[in-house]
Amino acid sequence: MRLCRFDDNRLGLVQSESVLDVTPVLRRLPAYRWSFPGGDPVIAALDMLAPEIAAEAERAPARPLEAVKLRAPVANPSKIVCAPVNYLRHLEEGRADPGIHYGKQVEEIERVGLFLKANSALVGPSEGVALRHLDRRNDHEVEMVMVIGKTADRVPAKGALAHVAAFAIGLDMTIRGPEDRSLRKSVDSYAVVGPWLVTADEIANPANLALSLEVNGEMRQRANTRDLVLGLERLIELASSYYALLPGDLIFTGTPEGVGPVKPGDILTASIEGIGAMRVEIRAA
Ligand code: MN
Repeated sequence: MRLCRFDDNRLGLVQSESVLDVTPVLRRLPAYRWSFPGGDPVIAALDMLAPEIAAEAERAPARPLEAVKLRAPVANPSKIVCAPVNYLRHLEEGRADPGIHYGKQVEEIERVGLFLKANSALVGPSEGVALRHLDRRNDHEVEMVMVIGKTADRVPAKGALAHVAAFAIGLDMTIRGPEDRSLRKSVDSYAVVGPWLVTADEIANPANLALSLEVNGEMRQRANTRDLVLGLERLIELASSYYALLPGDLIFTGTPEGVGPVKPGDILTASIEGIGAMRVEIRAA
């Protein structure tokens, strides 16, 4: 299934160029009150909702994909976990380019570990990216994103993908500079996820997917998830050795070489094999 969140928090099933509005299935969710449970209730209930979504789709009104506003497909992750320097050639370009490393030693992921982006940075492709600190270099980073489906607490790498509900495309937008990653990468709108999520049953081998990013039609990043330094299961093992991953948590798996600056007016097109493509407009905040 390809599921999107569109317009005013509607749930959509994406089929070729249409979105089927299956929002009525959300009636099946419990009525939450303060204090809310951790994690995203739709992702937590996905197994229960899947047959309901399929049934609802039979009678759901269809909207053209290009006519809807695509939001982040996960509304309420408890955290956005990110892998830094997880492709060797990106590590090399980071070490070679002062515009990326700012005089700091770029360490291997085995030494740096993971970092978190603020949840408030999360947007969908139709919302675009609003750049801040325009005097600084603002870079694109295309990444494959895993959506956690089942709570994962101290799980071993082997079999860890069983905790993943879906995959999506992510942009880990970044202000370059000397500050901590969590500050420079948590600007509002600097975590783009979309265009929808593709459930794990539809991705035969997530560890072998081509990904790419174009800026104004020009290819900037092109790689394959097979070249990840820490693979998908190892990332889940590492993250869950520190904190429980909850349904809806997002794991940005790292960006390949070819990162570069963007400016207001640019149009990014990010694509991942088996997931799709998303168009994201860059503007000044
Ligand atoms: Mn990144």
